[in-house]
Amino acid sequence: MADHVIAEIPILRCRVLSLALSWKCDAHCLHCFLPRRIRQRDAYEPEVVHSVLAHLPDEVSLVSLTGGEPFLEPKRLLDVLSRIDAHGRIAAIVTNGLWSRDWQKARKLLGTAFRLGLRIFSLSLDEYHRPALSDQEAIRLLREAVQLGMEVSLKGTGRFARKKWARVSSHPDLSSVRVRPGWENLETIGTGRGLPADHQRGPSTMRDCGTVLLPLVLPDGRFMACCSTLMFQAKGTWLDVGTVREEPIDRLIDRYRRSFLLAGLFVFGPLGFLRRVGISRRPDQETKCGFCLGWLKDQEICRKVADRLGVDMALKKEIVARVMLFEHTRSVEPCCE
Ligand code: SF4
Ligand code: SF4
Repeated sequence: MADHVIAEIPILRCRVLSLALSWKCDAHCLHCFLPRRIRQRDAYEPEVVHSVLAHLPDEVSLVSLTGGEPFLEPKRLLDVLSRIDAHGRIAAIVTNGLWSRDWQKARKLLGTAFRLGLRIFSLSLDEYHRPALSDQEAIRLLREAVQLGMEVSLKGTGRFARKKWARVSSHPDLSSVRVRPGWENLETIGTGRGLPADHQRGPSTMRDCGTVLLPLVLPDGRFMACCSTLMFQAKGTWLDVGTVREEPIDRLIDRYRRSFLLAGLFVFGPLGFLRRVGISRRPDQETKCGFCLGWLKDQEICRKVADRLGVDMALKKEIVARVMLFEHTRSVEPCCE
């Protein structure tokens, strides 16, 4: 693998760091990117979380907990929330909400989580969740989070989810709830390929990739530059920046922030980036992440991209300018799943 082409000063910003505590989950969704055997195992490694929180750069103001299902282990979750708070960061979470079916316990747990610093609550809800909360269960949970004072959003996958989101978010007590359709599209999710074609978007979506702005630490300490649903295939590629077992997170984040390659993937997307450096490769029927990983694993292509970046000052300037334009016009959503 060619080395990252590193800028003298950081290009990307990293205000949000996602942290997957464990892959364990109590759901069995149709579109889940986690293989079943991984989803059944609790791979939590406390030393990874402690190391990440102890070496967070000032730039990271928000830690977004994800998984798996973070609420499955309440004691652990509360411990991590109190540590995030002790390090002066805001905590966000993305959850399937199934734990709220035992409402008395759930209400108490949510209140404690809020007191320990949980401020951003994202409920993952769509037609592909198995099981999914009913409308009434989702409303009950979201109302409680709103009443506690959390910033609340609904997220999910696929256009069929819109009706469910509309039913839930139209409740009079939930006018402040944001709905974030399409942040993850079904096309980027491995097993989602078996779902009906009308849920998928075409290759035109390959011309940028905002997911590069959501780096993620895996339960084993690996720092990935994006929270792609194909992340298990990304090991050893440019997206695999390193591990907190070997380097502190601030150094890994610094490398991520200075990488022209990662910034190029963000502003041009996997297809646009190749075209921009003069390499022709057709996406055919590939999903965006499938196409992206396809060439990121190709040593020859990566070397050509890195070589071109090494000599093309205009290209570097364009990447920096596009990132700056983004910074002035858009914002990063905190949660990924
Ligand atoms: S998609 Fe999320 S809620 Fe569903 S099984 Fe996977 S990790 Fe669990
Ligand atoms: S397109 Fe590439 S950079 Fe973007 S989320 Fe997928 S694998 Fe990551």
